[in-house]
Amino acid sequence: MILECIPNGMFESNCYVLGVNGEGAIIDAGVDVTQVRKIVDDNKLKVKYIILTHGHIDHICELDELKSAVGGSAAIHEDDAEFLTNPVFNCSFVFGSNRIFKPADITLKDGDILELGGTKLEIIHTPGHTPGGMCIKVGGIVFTGDTLFRCSIGRTDLPGGNKHNIITSIKDKLFVLPDETLVYPGHNDASTIGFEKRNNII
Ligand SMILES: [Zn+2]
Ligand SMILES: [Zn+2]
Repeated sequence: MILECIPNGMFESNCYVLGVNGEGAIIDAGVDVTQVRKIVDDNKLKVKYIILTHGHIDHICELDELKSAVGGSAAIHEDDAEFLTNPVFNCSFVFGSNRIFKPADITLKDGDILELGGTKLEIIHTPGHTPGGMCIKVGGIVFTGDTLFRCSIGRTDLPGGNKHNIITSIKDKLFVLPDETLVYPGHNDASTIGFEKRNNII
């Protein structure tokens, strides 16, 4: 398995390139496309999905360019699907650019499975930061978007945010995973579920 993190997206968002048996998935689309394309080309990946952990602008701003450059189906949770076409929800209006994107090719819900090179990508709906925030579990790894960070959690003061829901999502959906599960968040450094259970502010 190939896993690379490109950490210099809009507002320092992370983009992950995951490769399994020649098939690729990009997780979040906030980084410069040339960086993603280089990893895809170097590893000869056929991109199957561009998976969005949620619909905020710092995770979707390069979505259309990325899709043109490397291909793949854009996938987002059904409860954040409207963020792609609503600048208030995706928060681009705050920064003076009302950004609208093409609708997703695939909408997902809790428990859905995407298949990548014979490996399962499990969708875990974790509302709170946004209504359709989701995490993606791949074996002993979980990509947590802006739900769970190293030693902190996502903000809940943006449209559709809900503090009670994010805490419930983390405790009931993420902290039940094995302690050794690697956590790859939407910003900042990686962690593990066990470390966060002991040290997170939640
Ligand atoms: Zn966000
Ligand atoms: Zn973010």
